[in-house]
Amino acid sequence: MSVYDLTIDELIEYFLKIGEKKYYATELFSWLYNKRITSFKEVTNIKKEIREKLGVDFIISNIEIIAVELGKDVRKYLFKLKDGEHIEAVLMRHDYGNSLCISSQVGCNMGCKFCESGRRRKVRNLTTGEMVEQILKVELDANLRISHVVIMGIGEPFDNYDNICNFIKIINHPKGLNIGSRHITVSTCGLVPKILEFSNFPYQVNLAISLHAANDKLRREIMPIAKVYPLKDLISAIKKYLEKTNRRVTFEYIMLSSVNDSKEDALELVNLLKGINSYVNLIPYNETDALQFKRSNPLTIAKFYDILKKNNITVTIRREFGGEISAACGQLRSKKEDI
Ligand code: SAH
Repeated sequence: MSVYDLTIDELIEYFLKIGEKKYYATELFSWLYNKRITSFKEVTNIKKEIREKLGVDFIISNIEIIAVELGKDVRKYLFKLKDGEHIEAVLMRHDYGNSLCISSQVGCNMGCKFCESGRRRKVRNLTTGEMVEQILKVELDANLRISHVVIMGIGEPFDNYDNICNFIKIINHPKGLNIGSRHITVSTCGLVPKILEFSNFPYQVNLAISLHAANDKLRREIMPIAKVYPLKDLISAIKKYLEKTNRRVTFEYIMLSSVNDSKEDALELVNLLKGINSYVNLIPYNETDALQFKRSNPLTIAKFYDILKKNNITVTIRREFGGEISAACGQLRSKKEDI
């Protein structure tokens, strides 16, 4: 297994189990995440027998960068995993820091009609280590520190729940990557039981909900998950989440031309979100060759925005990155695998 799969508590457990002192866990964390070792041989302050045992029990590197596409303020990475599968991550430079969008699964089972990633069914979950390594490899390649992480790449994070929670624990840990919890965002298409479970997860991370439609009929058409969890259940789970965590959620809303971008759609959205502590992020759709959806024109987006604003909904229009380098979810992998 990868050494990056383990939280500090799991490493403590490991050292205790092999009859060693638990402070080695903290030591090892700082070798891994601060000094960025590439071999256990470098861990000079841990005695040789343990070093050798670590080398037998764990692998350090499990993923490699095989392609990078550069755009303005954006870099898109294609990784190859040990079993030959491919995943993607996107680095975006904002004025507030460097944000990395990571993948959580190989393929995705949610089947959203507008999404490139969903064209390939889920092959498997990513391990915690494979998610942690996306950050480490990009930091090394781009020679910078990642300050913000969004779990919005290929996959549905709440369909890989336990690994996502461990991933957050590791990257948030002061001796780990020390990325502030408020700088970490998990995005879900709306798996209701997991939203409820996540309200008990004791880290103040951000939750984003991919809404994309304000009524069940349309939502069912473009997001099959809506057949399992209708809006009534989704909104009620979000309200419970908000009550428990005292936080705010983000609603993501892709603007799809003539699908969900009319004045009526905007008013329906206002109604749905009334009284919910949230804000809406309007996302210009990234068109993709294999799918027929078109992006709304800027004027339509502006009108939609105005209706929300006038009705006291906090709303932003997402800044676009990487249109020129097929940075939309799943596009680089599709190109590579020619599907
Ligand atoms: N499965 C999770 C996270 C991955 S998708 C989720 O559904 O939230 C991250 C976001 O990108 C989602 O809001 C998704 O709907 C959106 N998305 C997918 N394809 C897109 C495209 N071509 N252009 C813009 N946004 C897209």
